[in-house]
Amino acid sequence: MNDYNLRSLNEKELEAAVEDLGEKKFRAKQLFSWVHEKNAVDFDEMSNLSLKFREKLAAEYNLGESRISARQISQDGTEKYLLELGDGEAVECVLMRYRGDFSKKRNTLCISSQVGCAMGCSFCATAQGGLVRNLTCGEIVGQVYEVNHLLQQEGAEKVDNIVFMGMGEPMLNWDNVLKAIKLLNAKDGQNIGIRRMSLSTCGIADKIKELAECDLDITLAISLHAATDEKRSQIMPVNKRYPLGVLMEACRYYQKKTKKRITFEYALIKGVNDNPGEVMEIKRLLNDLDAHVNLIPVNPVANTKNIFRPSQKSVKDFAKMLKKAGVNCSIREEKGADIDGACGQLRGKLHKNQLSG
Ligand code: SF4
Repeated sequence: MNDYNLRSLNEKELEAAVEDLGEKKFRAKQLFSWVHEKNAVDFDEMSNLSLKFREKLAAEYNLGESRISARQISQDGTEKYLLELGDGEAVECVLMRYRGDFSKKRNTLCISSQVGCAMGCSFCATAQGGLVRNLTCGEIVGQVYEVNHLLQQEGAEKVDNIVFMGMGEPMLNWDNVLKAIKLLNAKDGQNIGIRRMSLSTCGIADKIKELAECDLDITLAISLHAATDEKRSQIMPVNKRYPLGVLMEACRYYQKKTKKRITFEYALIKGVNDNPGEVMEIKRLLNDLDAHVNLIPVNPVANTKNIFRPSQKSVKDFAKMLKKAGVNCSIREEKGADIDGACGQLRGKLHKNQLSG
């Protein structure tokens, strides 16, 4: 696929592009800053580039065609955006504002890596339409740029934390995701520290091993959601391809290489994976790892069967039991409960409206 989006290009690629247009190489630095730091959406903004150069750029390239087409704002300050892409497809991203003391204060943007997803998790709205396509690198970083552009216009604080936990499986769009991580981290771009980024995977074991070799100080989160193969395969078809034994072996490899703690996401589904018996299975599974379990009461999604949210009390009891068993855990702070909480629901609505409209 030809990608004429300048947001997809790193500094080296911009240098080549600039030289191809007959301009001096040093112009690439200025261009990089307009594209990746200042989030320009129009070539006319690039005041330190000549009009002739801007015209040549505009004739060959674009500045991304993703634009925010819907926005929902929660009472707690969480915002959900629908980004319409150049081909009419759409993805979601969610801004969560965490407040409190200095160390905890952050603006986290949860971004998508694919349009749809092929992984078929039973509790997930994104899974329902299957995979449409991978996002390009420019479309991935474009989510951050578009949201920052909007926040800047409103005088609000910019995004300073990224989680790859939106639509899609980031490890199945690995080259573009890796390039996006590096672009978002660039000092003369958004300058978001790698330590302020998390990557969540449903458990693509080969790629977890590849990530271990990348020397990236990113937080790895594994969507675990069940601690036995039988149960996990029921709710996450990926478990048939990468059963728990294979996944845990990859996690041990990753930890040995990186010495980093791994987060395990555990969406609690009433009557499915919230029984006391699961606690010992989780303990057994994570016993030899430096792990933290994030408990997330599941968000019910339209058109899913047997996916119910447990009561607050049973979530707290589950956390207590895990702690008593010696497993590090916390309950994820709920954000945006009054807007379409679970990922994929806003896009799902758009598609429904298009179909019925
Ligand atoms: S939970 Fe994540 S991996 Fe599973 S189907 Fe949804 S988007 Fe894909």
